[in-house]
Amino acid sequence: MMAAEQTPAWRGEMHYDEPMGRHNTWRTGGRARRYYQPADIDDLCVFLAWLETEEPLLWLGLGSNLLVRDGGFPGTVISTFNVLSELDWLEDTVLRTGAGVTCSKVARTAAKAGLVGAEFLAGIPGTMGGALAMNAGAFGGETWPLVRAVKTVDRQGHLRQRTPADFRVAYRSVEGPQDEWFVSADLEMEFGNAQAAQADIRDLLARRSATQPTQQPSCGSVFRNPPGEHAARLIESAGLKGRAIGGARVSEKHANFIINTGTATASDLESLIVLIQETVDRQHGIRLQTEVRIVGERVQS
Ligand SMILES: Cc1cc2nc3c(=O)[nH]c(=O)nc-3n(C[C@H](O)[C@H](O)[C@H](O)COP(=O)(O)OP(=O)(O)OC[C@H]3O[C@@H](n4cnc5c(N)ncnc54)[C@H](O)[C@@H]3O)c2cc1C
Repeated sequence: MMAAEQTPAWRGEMHYDEPMGRHNTWRTGGRARRYYQPADIDDLCVFLAWLETEEPLLWLGLGSNLLVRDGGFPGTVISTFNVLSELDWLEDTVLRTGAGVTCSKVARTAAKAGLVGAEFLAGIPGTMGGALAMNAGAFGGETWPLVRAVKTVDRQGHLRQRTPADFRVAYRSVEGPQDEWFVSADLEMEFGNAQAAQADIRDLLARRSATQPTQQPSCGSVFRNPPGEHAARLIESAGLKGRAIGGARVSEKHANFIINTGTATASDLESLIVLIQETVDRQHGIRLQTEVRIVGERVQS
């Protein structure tokens, strides 16, 4: 059940006991104890300062890389999509983007302006906050090489300007100051040809729909590629394409994707993840690491 609360301290929307299946691309998972959509950046800072210091926090973009266990998230989810929505040119080649702006909007905005370097973001179905947290990448491009600076917010609601030197960035991994989250990023690109950049985006999107099950609920690639290997190849050669547990099934189109066929619980998805890890380990001697972020509590039996 959801209920709205009004307090004088903050102006955003609070929902209690919010089903997280509404907020992720796997379309399943448990409930969040509290789900907060700030009214704007100032309100976000007021809200953070108001929160208890021990409150578990989960920052949420579009939930395209997130599995919330069936027992739910025992804290507060902060939703940034459509809230941290700034998109401004600081210079001819530098775009400031809020964390809640979609990757595809950033890619299209840059390409239309005749800048190159951000085209790969076009098919990543998340926000820039998620892309910064994950160092999202595709087709040879990655998020952080574009970053000149980021703005973060901490638990007390203080904003800070930071540079890439403050973060340790690697393949799908970003480590930075603890308890700080992304509010915006300044992305620097290069001058190029607008028509060519837009054609590249169309080409990348066509390649995605030819090779990935983009019309079915998934979180994209479940596992990181091990050094010098492809997780999809290891999974396929272990004979796991089409393997199912409950409503979760390894995609026939791309073996590193797990599909929710309609009735998957978070537990079905996690059990299939573990089955894949164990089978690939047994057959290839490689322990696959998840790219998807798994949060929350298991259902108590
Ligand atoms: C069909 C499909 C295709 C995909 N293809 C790709 C691909 O090619 N390349 C790729 O890299 N990924 C891909 N993904 C995965 C996903 O889209 C990316 O990881 C994306 O960057 C996640 O963004 P999000 O806004 O959905 O983040 P969420 O799933 O909402 O969150 C992901 C993580 O980021 C954290 N986070 C979110 N916002 C913030 C913030 N403002 N500050 C700090 N932390 C934050 C969350 O707490 C969580 O830990 C794909 C997913 C799907 C469903």
